[in-house]
Amino acid sequence: MVLVYGEPITRWSCMFTECSARCCRAGREATIRDVKRISEGTGLKAEDFLENHQDRGGLFHLKGRGGRCIFLGDDLRCSLHEKGLKPIFCQMYPFKFKGIIYADDLVLKVEATKDCPTIGKGDVLTEDFEIAIESLGNRFLKDIEDFIRLRSQGLSFDEILAKV
Ligand code: SF4
Ligand code: SF4
Repeated sequence: MVLVYGEPITRWSCMFTECSARCCRAGREATIRDVKRISEGTGLKAEDFLENHQDRGGLFHLKGRGGRCIFLGDDLRCSLHEKGLKPIFCQMYPFKFKGIIYADDLVLKVEATKDCPTIGKGDVLTEDFEIAIESLGNRFLKDIEDFIRLRSQGLSFDEILAKV
């Protein structure tokens, strides 16, 4: 389940050049399947691009350089985007991660990025946008759940990475 905080958004398009890609900061969230996709698509090892590849809870963070995500180019473009390798959470812009409630069924808390210059402008958002965010959020939670389950079975990070 995805819990969205804040006012509903009716218009938005990501125009990252207007905000110098504010959302692409160091430490963006990634799941084990994001890690696998990025590793396979770029040839990088998990430890090359994760801050915390030994995390036991399945919530990983992308490394940064000068406070920006290491996958952000000088032209403010994401080098993973064209390859279809962007982490789930980066596909959920303009929402940012606010936390996870660890109940019987996990709940993901998200909130629109403050000061996003294009909220209220850009494309008119329909119900499809909400459905897409819900679906991405549930994929995110499924990855977290799977990682926790496999960890509790005694598998190492590398074993889980090979299995998912
Ligand atoms: S992976 Fe791409 S979209 Fe996500 S924070 Fe990094 S540069 Fe931005
Ligand atoms: S979602 Fe908004 S704040 Fe984030 S990069 Fe796009 S335009 Fe900038």
